[in-house]
Amino acid sequence: MIKENLIHVEEKIREACERAGRKREEVTLIAVSKTKPVSMIREAMESRISTFGENKVQEMLEKQEMITEPLDWHLIGHLQRNKVRQITGRVKRIHSVDSLRLAEQIQNEYKKKNEMAHILMEVNIAGEETKFGLAPEETEAVIRKVAEFPNITIHGLMTIAPYVADPEENRMHFRNLHKLLVDINRKNIDNINMNELSMGMTGDYEVAIEEGATYIRVGTGIFGDRSYT
Ligand SMILES: *Cc1c(COP(=O)(O)O)cnc(C)c1O
Repeated sequence: MIKENLIHVEEKIREACERAGRKREEVTLIAVSKTKPVSMIREAMESRISTFGENKVQEMLEKQEMITEPLDWHLIGHLQRNKVRQITGRVKRIHSVDSLRLAEQIQNEYKKKNEMAHILMEVNIAGEETKFGLAPEETEAVIRKVAEFPNITIHGLMTIAPYVADPEENRMHFRNLHKLLVDINRKNIDNINMNELSMGMTGDYEVAIEEGATYIRVGTGIFGDRSYT
């Protein structure tokens, strides 16, 4: 089942890249394995997937314990400051840095271990009340401050778009996130040259690719529905 799902998703990615005149290599598929067992991660690995996304620190660490093969792990969920210590050196990207305070904590903990943190800033691009993320208007100011932190590299922006029935409804939000990234890059801030856009999930990743996504985060479309019990 996972194998078939991945073939389908891969085909959709290729088609979206083609429509947008982009190369397939510009887009990295993150298989979002949250709530799913290691056996399913192994199944995806058999289809040559090596990039996985988790939203909870504890769950990610437990899965890392059980899998010895080298994989790229991406932390995509809200990160509490008191959990930062546990993830140093264990994630390829933190997608969900949503405050200056969290960035400060990341700087402190990574400095202690003499490591670099590779992050994206999460933006609440649609201004939804219930979502984490920086307001678009404050993003540049926060990035200017984080740009001075020696143990952090900001690679780009991430957003979780609204849950919508028609993915076209999110096109504007993806376009706005892309525009925000371009606008901030144009300010020529020291240490800031962002080229990653983490946007698009199962329901809307094709539109996100058309609008410039470099990371898409797909869970349900690969592993099936999640049941939270
Ligand atoms: C769960 C999750 C996803 C994947 O969602 P699907 O709709 O299952 O593809 C993507 N991004 C984040 C931040 C998530 O928490």
